[in-house]
Order: sequence, then C-alpha cells, then structure tokens
Amino acid sequence: MDKMILLKDDLSKFITELLKKNKVFAPIQSDDTILFDQITRPSEMNLDFCKSEIPPKNLLFHQTETLFKFTPGTKAKIESVDVDEKKVIFGIRPCDAKSIAILDHAFKGDYEDPYFLSRRDNTALVGLSCNKPEINCFCTSFDDSPASSKYVDILLTDIGDKYYVEMNNEKGKQLTEGMSNLFKHAKESDAKKKKEVEKKAVDMISRHQKTNGIVEKLDKIFENPFWKEVAFKCVGCGTCTYLCPTCHCFDIQDESTLTKGARVRVWDTCMNPEYTLQASGYNPRPARTNRVKNRIYHKYNYYPKNFDVIACVGCGRCIDLCPVNIDIIDVVTRAGEVKA
Ligand code: SF4
Ligand code: SF4
Repeated sequence: MDKMILLKDDLSKFITELLKKNKVFAPIQSDDTILFDQITRPSEMNLDFCKSEIPPKNLLFHQTETLFKFTPGTKAKIESVDVDEKKVIFGIRPCDAKSIAILDHAFKGDYEDPYFLSRRDNTALVGLSCNKPEINCFCTSFDDSPASSKYVDILLTDIGDKYYVEMNNEKGKQLTEGMSNLFKHAKESDAKKKKEVEKKAVDMISRHQKTNGIVEKLDKIFENPFWKEVAFKCVGCGTCTYLCPTCHCFDIQDESTLTKGARVRVWDTCMNPEYTLQASGYNPRPARTNRVKNRIYHKYNYYPKNFDVIACVGCGRCIDLCPVNIDIIDVVTRAGEVKA
C-alpha cells in the first residue's frame, strides 16, 4: 500500500482532476443535513461532518430504479436500461465503506444483481477518516476503526495542514494517475501523526456493544418474551432500516399502461407488515414483535451464519433517528444477558 501526502491547499485541485473523468459524489449541505450528492466543483462539498444522515448506499443501490422497460402485448419487447458511468464517492466514512462490502454478499451471492454490481465495479471509494465520532458511533465494537482503510480504494486522514493518503489498491492508483504533482511520499512522522489522530478518534468512542457469542445466544432465545418487551415501543416507521447502510430489502413492481411499461425496484423495509404478506393472506411475521426481532436476527444471526460477518457497522444512525429511542447497542447487549 502506498502512503502519500496531499496538502490541504491541493484538495480542490485533486477534486477538479477527479471531475475531469468521473462523476463525483461528495457530502454536501442540504438544509440542515449532510447527504451525498453529485458535485460539479469542489466548493460544493462540506467536509465538516461526522456522518451523513442518509448513508451513501443509495448511490449503488438506488432508492427507486427502473430495471427495464417493456412494450406489453403478444410481441412484447424488452428494452434494457442503465449503463453506468465512472463514479467516485468522495468522503465516504470507513463505516459506510464497510457497509458496501457487507452489501456485496447480498448482491453477489448465488443470484448476482447486475445493477448493483455494475455500479460497484464502476465506482471508486475515496474515504475520509472520521476524526470526531459522535455519541452513538460504535464501529470499534466490530474490530474496526474510524480511520480504517480496509474497505476503500483510497483513504484520506486529516492530520493538520495535510491529508495522510493510503492508496489501497490498483483502483486507487489508477484513479490518481497523472496527478503525481499533487501527491508526495509520506514520511515516518506523517504515519505517526495518522496513528495519533486515529487513536484520538478511537478514544472518543464511548459506546460499546457486546457481540461475543451473540450468534449462538440468539439461537437460544428466539421465543423469549424479551423480544415482546423490546418491540413494545416500536411504531413500525421503518426509519431504522431505510437509513441503515447495510439494509437492503426491496420490492419489485411492474408499472404499465396498455402500450408501455417498466419493471421498477424500490426500497422496502422488513418493519412493514406487508413486507412478508403472502398472496394467500398468510403472513409469517404478523406481529410487530416478529418484525423487530427479525431486524436484529438478520444482522446478528442470519448474516453472520451465511456470510461470516455481522450486518451492522456501528454507525449509530438507527439510534440517532428512531422516534421512540430503540437503541440497538442496548438491545443486543441485553439479548446477550437474557437467561436462555
Ligand atoms: S443497525 Fe443501526 S448502527 Fe448498525 S449499521 Fe444499521 S443503522 Fe448503523
Ligand atoms: S425506527 Fe424505531 S420505531 Fe421506527 S421501525 Fe425502527 S425501531 Fe421501530
């Protein structure tokens, strides 16, 4: 891995270079929230944030997308859509980058999703270490760090008047080809400074979730009344799932008139009672308790069993934004303590 330095004064030049060959998506201020959107010049970015309210997963797994268009009738014609262009997500946090690696398992398992995978291939992730984790951040509970370069192509860490730059792979190197005037080799002292900045950020994380043995423990308490207690407050709004960077439930519908139609995919949520409602009228998760429990089991039991990774990155969004203060750190920690 190449370790470089980018002067802060040169950040705009770096972004301008990226914009010449790519669509660039970066954190921007939108009313009083930060979200990732396409920028056309560096001054549109706002890098003074911890996490965007909406995670950048929507850039790869669109909230609404047309899978293909068709002409109904006996001679039905299908018209494919969406050849993706080169894209850079600049400023993605290490936790959100990890969430994309977690989504990979769902979208390139036995059934490959060409829409997600094409965007994934055409997207470079330029991460930005998180120097000021917030109250509900807990990425360190999963052996990760707010300055981890593991899941990005390039990671920038603010170390004062410059960025410490870790070029992680070929994709990262190719992205910066022809920009050698902007990047200088890092010194030992720069690497040391990055470690100090990382430690300071890690030390700021005050909340921790106990996940030791959680997969096996959840196997034993599926029918425990604990889940009814957890679900009691939930109003089923789905906020925790729509804003979770690892959640990926979707629905597919055909929208058509007599002469034209489209197959459309939209985000869905397992917190919605209709999500599992079958055409026969049978619903395997009829009660809120079933649905709240499913959200936890999907992340901490089914996903690790299938893919060997917990499907939570500790971003804390579901805690920040749940209208009734259901707190996943608390729920999972307490689940670990429930008598089986
Ligand atoms: S479950 Fe909550 S804390 Fe974990 S990744 Fe999803 S939104 Fe973030
Ligand atoms: S955000 Fe809170 S209230 Fe809304 S569905 Fe999730 S747990 Fe329930």
